[in-house]
Amino acid sequence: MKKQNTTPPKKALVADWPALTRTFIKPEDEAARSTLIKYMEQILFGLHDFLKKHVGFTEEVSLKDLAGRFTDTVISKNPEKKLTDVITGLIEDIAPHAVNVASPYFVGHMTSAIPFFMVHLKTIVTALNQNVVKIETSKVVSVVEKQVLAKIHRLIFRKSDAFYNEHIQSTTTTLGCFTENGTLSNLTALWVARNVLFAPKNGFHGVEKEGLPAAYKAYGIQRSVVLVSRRGHYSLNKAAGILGIGNHNIVAVEVDEKSRIHIDSLNRTIKEIKNSKDKTAIIAVVGIAGTTETGSVDPLSTLGEICAENSIHFHVDAAWGGPTLMSEKYGHLLKGIELADSVTIDGHKQFYMPMSCGMVYFKDPEIMDRIIYHTNYVNRPGSVDLGIKSPSGSREANSLVLDSALKIMGSGGYALLIEHGIETAREFADEIRKRPYFQLVTPPELNILTYRLFPAHLQKQILGADAEQKIHINEKLNEINRTVQRLQREAGNSFVSRTTLKIKNHLEQDKVVLRVVIMNPMTTIEILRKILDEQEKIYKTVFSESRL
Ligand SMILES: *Cc1c(COP(=O)(O)O)cnc(C)c1O
Repeated sequence: MKKQNTTPPKKALVADWPALTRTFIKPEDEAARSTLIKYMEQILFGLHDFLKKHVGFTEEVSLKDLAGRFTDTVISKNPEKKLTDVITGLIEDIAPHAVNVASPYFVGHMTSAIPFFMVHLKTIVTALNQNVVKIETSKVVSVVEKQVLAKIHRLIFRKSDAFYNEHIQSTTTTLGCFTENGTLSNLTALWVARNVLFAPKNGFHGVEKEGLPAAYKAYGIQRSVVLVSRRGHYSLNKAAGILGIGNHNIVAVEVDEKSRIHIDSLNRTIKEIKNSKDKTAIIAVVGIAGTTETGSVDPLSTLGEICAENSIHFHVDAAWGGPTLMSEKYGHLLKGIELADSVTIDGHKQFYMPMSCGMVYFKDPEIMDRIIYHTNYVNRPGSVDLGIKSPSGSREANSLVLDSALKIMGSGGYALLIEHGIETAREFADEIRKRPYFQLVTPPELNILTYRLFPAHLQKQILGADAEQKIHINEKLNEINRTVQRLQREAGNSFVSRTTLKIKNHLEQDKVVLRVVIMNPMTTIEILRKILDEQEKIYKTVFSESRL
């Protein structure tokens, strides 16, 4: 979009009633209609260039320089700009320095391209501006939400028709709730689990009313914990902080070589906790269906059995992997998820919704009664107000976006996306295995894998090395991988992320690895090969092999 050269002299903008009322204009006559359409066109086509050109997080303009441009703290009394100029400013000054997460070369994070119809759906949600905290500001939208919750609940738990007929529109039971993100969903699941464990009894009114110290006293314990593999998402630590459990009490259980929770270690930990002198309660065991770092899926069936035997709340963090259930080909990878008491799924990840949307589901439709809140003016007992059992207050109608997307895509459409991700990740893993400069670190179970630059001569060296030399070589590798990742990002052609896999095996060290998440249907194996070529080239340019 070009700036016009012949701009007429601008009238000073003033904050007055005529200007104000114009901002509340609706598309009710021809003039208003063409103005509003003009703005939408400006946005949709203005961003076209941005979506085509830029990739990743480049150093073309440094973050420091950008920060220098955003230091004004005074809100001007009169309007500074008209809408059209604001849109132009966003397109010309902001978008070029944002990150084009939609590029097929942007494969480093769980944020990627979304189907373009999401822009339209989000617009209608904004135009309706329903607040689903209560029926009085949402009416039909709240019952739509209950329907969508039941659809996803069914995908996870596969209960009978009779079960869904009973609960889908029930005003007293709840199958789950929408939240802002996976972090809040995990918090909600642990909040419920905590309150179930420390329920009211013998004069104790429950942990929600009396707090943890009173709960520990009533239950004769000193500490409560949550068990999750060492690949657990840090939102669980936040939840433990907020819930007063303390994040030291998120106990990290060892993982096997495929980054899945080590079952013997888990059993041992449960036994130790049961026999420990500090009386300790287990609030939940968390299984992960798609770890953030490696995409690994814990053995959910086994975890479900262990939790049932020990009467422990079983939460599955399927923020990433949940939608895999829509694929008939790969849904079995999440076998055992139906044993969960609660499940987290993110809408803005593999449901390809715009930022942001989380969801949490519960097998028992009455369990959310543990977090009921009523007030006098809304959320009265027996109403459909969705704010009664939710960590959030006011909330947007995200269910409309998900429900519409499910209709537009069908589970078959989503399955194609999921299958493309898993199959392309497998092909990519084969490609990495073939290349002498690379080592595959965690093969993909879903559509995430990690690998690292590990040139053949160092692979040979490490074979004959003693413990100390191994540590030295690993440090060298960590430096190589950190550097290559950074330089590739700065070059701006493509983006992979990096993480450090903590491996608590005294023979092995923490590994810096490159991480690839394949969720963009436009990301092909050819693109991935080019990304490897570039990494190899950066390595050869920067690290002359004689230096090592
Ligand atoms: C992304 C993710 C979360 C957190 O979700 P947010 O939406 O980023 O808050 C939790 N657990 C797992 C496994 C995730 O991948």
